[in-house]
Amino acid sequence: MDPLEARSKYVMKGVALYHPVTIERGANAKLYDVNGKEYIDFTSGIGVANLGHANPELIKAAEEQLKKLWHMCFMVVNYKPYVELAERLAKIAPGSSEKMVLLQNSGSEAIENAIKVAKQVTGRPYVVAYENSFHGRGTYGYALASTGKYKPYKTGFDPLIPGVELIPYPYCYRCPFKQEYPSCGLACLDYVKNWFSHTRVPPERVAAFIIEMVQGEGGFVVAPRDYVKELKSFLEANSILLIDDEVQAGWGRTGKMWAVEHFGIEPDIIATAKAIANGLPLSAVIGKREIMENTSPGSFGGTYGGNPVACSVAIKVVEIMQRDRIPERAAKLGDIMRKRLEEMFEKYELIGDVRGLGAMQAIELVRDRRSKEPAADETMRVINKAREKGLLLLRAGVYLNVIRLHPPLTIEEDNLMRGLDILEESIREVVS
Ligand code: PMP
Repeated sequence: MDPLEARSKYVMKGVALYHPVTIERGANAKLYDVNGKEYIDFTSGIGVANLGHANPELIKAAEEQLKKLWHMCFMVVNYKPYVELAERLAKIAPGSSEKMVLLQNSGSEAIENAIKVAKQVTGRPYVVAYENSFHGRGTYGYALASTGKYKPYKTGFDPLIPGVELIPYPYCYRCPFKQEYPSCGLACLDYVKNWFSHTRVPPERVAAFIIEMVQGEGGFVVAPRDYVKELKSFLEANSILLIDDEVQAGWGRTGKMWAVEHFGIEPDIIATAKAIANGLPLSAVIGKREIMENTSPGSFGGTYGGNPVACSVAIKVVEIMQRDRIPERAAKLGDIMRKRLEEMFEKYELIGDVRGLGAMQAIELVRDRRSKEPAADETMRVINKAREKGLLLLRAGVYLNVIRLHPPLTIEEDNLMRGLDILEESIREVVS
């Protein structure tokens, strides 16, 4: 049976499919389908294969560990790959405070546990998250409840876990307060301090704010630096923890190891996953020692959290990131992408906004630059045309009108250029 036919017959409908292709293997920034067709991968499997597909050094690290020990539960015995990785993560985490670590399997679990830590340690009931955010559909608790976009992620699951409040994100292209940055004077933050905090949940009842410094699924929306700095001061003044969701933006993607490093603050807790083990299931919660030390024994963990093979690969990922200066490479790739997208912006009215940080760049497509009517159909047409021409792209944004560029950070420059050419050809064909 054709694998796509088998998928529709045997895999539940709730798992949607972006691209109707069956991929058999990958090699750095290229993917090959079962018919031998070649694609340039601008998705990295949603920001996961930062060090490329089938990276030989990572394969070796996995193989070596696979032969020694592929599972033991970390709640039953201690093993080295877990603690070695914990040490490395604690050391590379941003800021000067000492850190401690919890390892889990997915981004959703990292978020879930970051929020559990904040609640247990502060003893406060509420969590504040952002509209248009994405923190996971993989657990039916805080990850889903703190995800801002309702459809399709939350469809049919009401009532969700209580105690999560959503506030508008500083999405400056479509300002929820109809202002212009920077003349707005950060009206969105005033709202949090002066209205929300007085009417919805008093700050002393809030355990944590959870924020993506660059919203991923929300469409690569970058929070203004002064917003983040002022938010952190407000949170500190009220003893509220800041949880930084680095699941999509971390691991060099934005041109620094952690996206938060662009913003000049130290988060209290970081949730990370995706690129941490370049695709093996692994995630981490990295928190300040004074917080993590106050968690109650037995209330965190899981059978698989911190699998030895995934940890060994992640240790290698850290080594390669540092040795090959991958974040700096991402910044350079980002400059190339940005320049090319800005040239496209000058040529095609369909592009309403170009934005991003480092190698996390996106374009938002609109039918009319003044009204900013989202061009969702056109977005899908561009993505489909690009696939036919051999480029895999991802859609994002609340209005499904954002094309995000997420290539492996090890992509060869000629493949990056070829991918950008295909993107432009596809846009040209859709507008003509
Ligand atoms: N947070 C962010 C910012 C994400 O982008 C994602 C996944 N797209 C998640 C959390 C959830 O991660 P996972 O799919 O591994 O559960």
